[in-house]
Amino acid sequence: MGTRAVGPSPISLSVRPNGLGYLVASTAALRARRSAGRPLNAQSVRRPRDSGALIRIFAATLLLVHLSATASRAEPESTCFGTTSEGRLETGWRLPTSGPNYTAYSTIGVLAGRTSVHSRVHRVLLSAYAALAESSPRTVFMYAETGKRKGGPFPPHKTHQNGLSVDHMVPMRDAGGRSVHLPTSPFNRLGYDIDLDSRGRHGDLALDSLAMTELLYELHRASLAEGVEIWRVIFDPQLQPLLHDSPRWPYLEKHLEFSRRLSWVRHDEHFHVDFRVPCS
Ligand SMILES: [Zn+2]
Repeated sequence: MGTRAVGPSPISLSVRPNGLGYLVASTAALRARRSAGRPLNAQSVRRPRDSGALIRIFAATLLLVHLSATASRAEPESTCFGTTSEGRLETGWRLPTSGPNYTAYSTIGVLAGRTSVHSRVHRVLLSAYAALAESSPRTVFMYAETGKRKGGPFPPHKTHQNGLSVDHMVPMRDAGGRSVHLPTSPFNRLGYDIDLDSRGRHGDLALDSLAMTELLYELHRASLAEGVEIWRVIFDPQLQPLLHDSPRWPYLEKHLEFSRRLSWVRHDEHFHVDFRVPCS
């Protein structure tokens, strides 16, 4: 439902031209060293020369991002081109860094400009989160990579090119039954290196199938209200049976297309949603 035009950040941040790629390379190097049994030494991890200045720049940038994300103003609608795997976007809207019941997966990912979507998808997501805040206010959600403000190639993803693809980290419950996020950090490639076992567990955390199916349900309802469609949901077929006992499953099975085969990268710690919006 589109009631308010909450626009994206007008600023284009580029921590590095390929911030995530750099991060991936760095963490991969760290892992390789660890697995090789070699200790990390002072030369192996470069330290910034003036960490105080870096922290001040980082804090100021965070403030700018936060202010621009929460500002309410009319923004031009987005225009998408091509397909999710070969496309681009004009006037993508950056998602808010966080809200009452949701957060972005990574400050690094946000600052690297990896959380923009088509304006219509932007409204769908925020509308779904708002509905969930009403129906299950203690449940928290975490969106992950979406795309660049201008779309285009988005490595390491094969899609996410025209503002219509959204990743969500799967919602989890801890041993006490509390709704929690998966622990995302630069050391697990912003969460994407986490592997759930066949029961949907990661350490003491367990997949919250109820929360995940409620999120999918509200995304579908919100997309109907916005007049767009959900093309497909990609989630590990071996974990999908964990969703089957949820009250929303009959609805989801009827209205959504779930992946049936393993995709090129395992979608266990996150699931991917492609929206269908008319593109030029
Ligand atoms: Zn994805």
